[in-house]
Amino acid sequence: MKDNLPDKDGFFGEYGGKFVPETLMYALNELEQTYKTLKDNNDFNAEFHRDLAEFVGRPSPLYFAKRLTEHYNTASIWLKREDLNHTGAHKINNTVGQILLAKYMGKKRIIAETGAGQHGVATATVAARLGLDCHIYMGSEDVRRQSLNVYRMKLLGAEVHEVNSGSATLKDALNEALRDWVTNIEDTYYIIGSVTGPHPYPMIVRDFNAVVGYELIDQSQESFGRMPDSIIACVGGGSNAMGIFYPFIKMDNVELIGVEAAGKGIETGEHAAPLNDGTPGVLHGAKSYLMQDESGQVKGTASISAGLDYPGVGPEHSWLKDIKRAKYVAVSDDEVMKAFHMVNKMEGILPALETAHAFAHLDELMPKMKKDQHIVINVSGRGDKDLNSVVEIEDIKL
Ligand SMILES: *Cc1c(COP(=O)(O)O)cnc(C)c1O
Repeated sequence: MKDNLPDKDGFFGEYGGKFVPETLMYALNELEQTYKTLKDNNDFNAEFHRDLAEFVGRPSPLYFAKRLTEHYNTASIWLKREDLNHTGAHKINNTVGQILLAKYMGKKRIIAETGAGQHGVATATVAARLGLDCHIYMGSEDVRRQSLNVYRMKLLGAEVHEVNSGSATLKDALNEALRDWVTNIEDTYYIIGSVTGPHPYPMIVRDFNAVVGYELIDQSQESFGRMPDSIIACVGGGSNAMGIFYPFIKMDNVELIGVEAAGKGIETGEHAAPLNDGTPGVLHGAKSYLMQDESGQVKGTASISAGLDYPGVGPEHSWLKDIKRAKYVAVSDDEVMKAFHMVNKMEGILPALETAHAFAHLDELMPKMKKDQHIVINVSGRGDKDLNSVVEIEDIKL
């Protein structure tokens, strides 16, 4: 199997690439060249790993989920605790890495897009730490739904730009951020939040998140003396999944399972599961599976979890799906809420609604597993941010 992907043009098989206007080509090439040099630079790597240790709090533990394991009574269930990171999710791994790229490139202005606000917060956090000017693009619909995250970004010194075009959500914010970048290419670094967008972003974001998978190799060896049988992660754009999958792609006996948002059910069309019910096309500068109609118009998405509510997915996942190296399933909003409660009650862990998607696959997976097997769930983030949504969804009177 090829493990040196993407190729020099940024493709994973037929997916990925750089479908962007000429003005962006210059910036993407500059970023690609810089990354190629810095990737093997000892000072850069030492600084990245020091920041991960001292600012993010890595390594995150691999934790044995005793009661969940007893509940299913088959394989041992282990949790990779990305929810314990500073700012509460895996997203900080990538922003810590990309802000270092910006620093080494001498860029003084940082921009980013955000949906629910988690990537905006992670970006504003690292920008504050380095004293850089930070601008976050966010759809006005999301600004309304996520007012606390908007305030949090402002506390961190970022300027939040509301985007009113289209459906006023993540994909519109992304378009606006790209527009800003074209206009301010000289001094601006664009921090993309998932393994999406044009080359080299899917590769860079994967590499920075792959620290999770590399830690897991050592921790699996220490905790149960071999590699896991299955690794499960939720998939929105696909960065937490790609980060934990990546070092295992070459290990054929480790099953990789990505869980998408089936929303109200795949059959209703109201979901956010392009790998389960989408077709290849081009969105935001790359070719990948996406949710589109026959004429190529991007369809609306539906999921209780804002972080998975995106019509596209990273190109490397599209490739892993086609070559059948990873398996992509989907779980409905109802199944997710059930799993959300189960993890709270049985493990004393409040998972993000995105993360609860990964747990929701256990009902299907666990009966097929054997007692001496080991599975790992990537706990991508904590659910404090989702409490308001849960109260609303379940119509709870506080
Ligand atoms: C943003 C987010 C996700 C989805 O993004 P990926 O790029 O698919 O990882 C998943 N979990 C949490 C906690 C998030 O904040």
